[in-house]
Amino acid sequence: SRQFTRPLNDLANQFNMILSAVAGADRVFQVIDEKEERLDEKNAQDVSKIKGNVRFEHVDFSYEDDQQTLSDITFEARAGQTVALVGPTGAGKTTIISLLSRFYDPDSGRVLVDGVDLKSVKRDSLRSRMGVVLQDATMFHTTIRENIRYGRLDATDLEVESAAKSSRAHDFIIQLPNGYDTILDSDGKGVSHGQRQLLSIARAMIADPSLLILDEATSSIDTVTEMKINAGLTNLMEGRTSFVIAHRLHTIRAADLILVLKGGKIVEKGNHRALMDKGGEYAALIQAQKSNATVKGYG
Ligand code: ADP
Repeated sequence: SRQFTRPLNDLANQFNMILSAVAGADRVFQVIDEKEERLDEKNAQDVSKIKGNVRFEHVDFSYEDDQQTLSDITFEARAGQTVALVGPTGAGKTTIISLLSRFYDPDSGRVLVDGVDLKSVKRDSLRSRMGVVLQDATMFHTTIRENIRYGRLDATDLEVESAAKSSRAHDFIIQLPNGYDTILDSDGKGVSHGQRQLLSIARAMIADPSLLILDEATSSIDTVTEMKINAGLTNLMEGRTSFVIAHRLHTIRAADLILVLKGGKIVEKGNHRALMDKGGEYAALIQAQKSNATVKGYG
């Protein structure tokens, strides 16, 4: 999974860069702000009130001229639905997420959010509605409370705790000698890998995004924490349009829409039942991995 967590981490770092700039250096924030505004088209629309309907229409995209990365990507997710992106490394899953976050524009075709072409949205208004939960969430060298608050800087302490409760992070936090005042290292030392994920779920929860991007964990986490993460994620995903780079059969089966990607193309799409009935690529993949909870080599 390393190979696709890298670009996703770049994506999260861009969000984090903006967040940390807000938190501290006003000057830096201003610079980013100006750059973003310059990038936005004249009369760009504010989409900070979106419900979260997402549509890709015949999207083609290349990073380099001679190589088509995405070809004719077409799908629709209604507000609140879960889309699972399935396919081998290099299939184009992360690129789809990057286009949705508008780090790139399609070469042809359109990406629409609530019917608005992303080419004419204010980038910061779009990203303010997006939340990202990664396998290795970035933590800052400050208290747990502030680390959660990074999701929304004007959140009150009460709101921080409430987000921690619904993300199932609260229990472990209050067991720490310093509770919410526990100071984390920037590499997250002091809490376990699974606990870091719970904190990143809480951080996303407090931001209350309409669009969620999840990179599901593959590393082994103790059963109790894993159950908490599942419960926390279920709460987080409720009512939000979620795009999951899915590794676990359980998640994929539950998705409203599964996109099976290969070489930058959607080879199959539908829900688990429909794709099993079809008896194609997806069914073969599931059949081959029946004894395993993880879809090997797929992400
Ligand atoms: P996945 O997430 O399914 O592993 P990606 O979307 O990361 O796939 O990659 C799709 C293809 O695009 C791969 O061939 C990858 O090497 C290429 N690619 C990804 N990011 C870049 C980039 N920034 N510049 C050039 N090529 C890239």
